[in-house]
Amino acid sequence: MPKLTGQCLCGDVTFATEGDVAFQANCHCSDCRQTTGATFATLLFMDQSDVEVSGDVTTFAHTVDSGNVLTKHFCPNCGSQVFGTSESRPTLIALRAGCINEHEHVKPQINVFAGSKMDCTLLDPDLPAPERMPG
Ligand SMILES: [Zn+2]
Ligand SMILES: [Zn+2]
Repeated sequence: MPKLTGQCLCGDVTFATEGDVAFQANCHCSDCRQTTGATFATLLFMDQSDVEVSGDVTTFAHTVDSGNVLTKHFCPNCGSQVFGTSESRPTLIALRAGCINEHEHVKPQINVFAGSKMDCTLLDPDLPAPERMPG
C-alpha cells in the first residue's frame, strides 16, 4: 500500500501513513453524520503505529450504545475532524477519508449502519450494507 497523506482544512494538522489500510467503511450512524456534518463518514482503519500525525489536535470523547468510548480528534483552529480512536480497539485509528489526498486509494468495502442512513444517500448495490456494525 503506498503512503497516504492528508490534512485538515487550514493545514495545521497533517498525517502520513506507512503500511496497509486494514479496512475501509462508509458509516451512516447518527454519530458519524452529526460529527462530520455530512450525510455519512468514510473511514480508513489502520494501525496507529502506521500513522504519523503532525500538529496538535483537540479531542471529544463520547460513549456509544455498546458502552464503548469513541474519541474524535479535530483541528482546534479550523475544526476539521481528522481521525477517530476507539477504547475497545486501542491500536486502531480511523482516518477521515475526506482529508486524504490520494483519492484513488479510498475504496470503501462496506456501508455500515445502513439502517440509519439518510433517505437521500444512495448506496453502491455491489457493497454489503448491514443495518448495524457487524461483529
Ligand atoms: Zn485545521
Ligand atoms: Zn458511525
